[in-house]
Amino acid sequence: MEPRRMKIKVCLVGEAAVGKTSLIRRFVLDDFDDKYIQTLGTKVSKKELTVPPADGNEPVKVDMTIWDIMGQKGFRELLKEAYFYGAKGVIAVADVTRKTTLDDLDDWIEGVYSVTGKIPIQFMANKWDLKDQAELGEEELVQATKAYDAAYFLTSAKSGEGVETAFQDLAERIARDKLAKKDAA
Ligand code: GDP
Ligand code: MG
Repeated sequence: MEPRRMKIKVCLVGEAAVGKTSLIRRFVLDDFDDKYIQTLGTKVSKKELTVPPADGNEPVKVDMTIWDIMGQKGFRELLKEAYFYGAKGVIAVADVTRKTTLDDLDDWIEGVYSVTGKIPIQFMANKWDLKDQAELGEEELVQATKAYDAAYFLTSAKSGEGVETAFQDLAERIARDKLAKKDAA
């Protein structure tokens, strides 16, 4: 039997320099670059994933389209509609060495929801390789994710820790939601 296929768009949000571009680079190319390449406008990357069967069905091939954005606040309103339109999931990225980047995610998520309605969110607490300098931990993350029914992952785009798992877990949640809705219809 042909595996089911599914296309899903996900967007990364978060303040400048939290590691959004680096997380995508790690996930898609399995690579890391120390240079800070400021993303201009948006960049779209693609990755194919397989979601294992949960309900006795065949596995699902997921074509994930991953949208990167620049972090400048002024552009948020301007690009919002185009950037978030059609997104099925959001990755909300904070830098563990800067607590304010976690607080700022509420605004970003409001912005997404105003375009997409409620969709699954994955929090990534990035730069976990710098955990000695961390300003936030489990307690803050539990607090921040509670309102959104979201999961969180401690990640490092530098070492790769947690990155693949976090993307994969989001793909699984989106795919299963979508299949459940289709089966119910
Ligand atoms: P963006 O503005 O959110 O896209 O952030 P970037 O991906 O451009 O990363 C900003 C800076 O943080 C760059 O210098 C990266 O090399 C660095 N960086 C990104 N992720 C990590 C990480 O997991 N650990 C460490 N130590 N540095 C990181
Ligand atoms: Mg970037």
